[in-house]
Amino acid sequence: MSDDSVIQPWVAPSSTGCVECLAEGGWWLHLRRCASCGHVGCCDSSPSQHASHHAGHSGHPVVQSFEPGEDWFWDYRTEQFSDGPTLAPPAHHPLDQPTPGPQGRVPVDWQSHLH
Ligand SMILES: [Zn+2]
Ligand SMILES: [Zn+2]
Repeated sequence: MSDDSVIQPWVAPSSTGCVECLAEGGWWLHLRRCASCGHVGCCDSSPSQHASHHAGHSGHPVVQSFEPGEDWFWDYRTEQFSDGPTLAPPAHHPLDQPTPGPQGRVPVDWQSHLH
């Protein structure tokens, strides 16, 4: 994928939470949004690291934080933070969604499950 086509600013986020965690009954710490296709996945501190897995198997190398108040991008190719355009809203998960999330799925000892 060329750099010009990696970031697709008009693509909306695919979900309000990690797509795979919601499907599998899992939970996450923080959320990342794929800048190419809008896939929402969980961060590398989360038990399942779905954002990294998505980048690995889709070839979509750039994510933006999907956390309120954060607008940084991360490039898996360089393993560096980067800048990018304003992406299609919403820019973060719903404010009433807890961290970690989602509501009701997070174990009491969640901190011992983080990477
Ligand atoms: Zn996940
Ligand atoms: Zn993607």
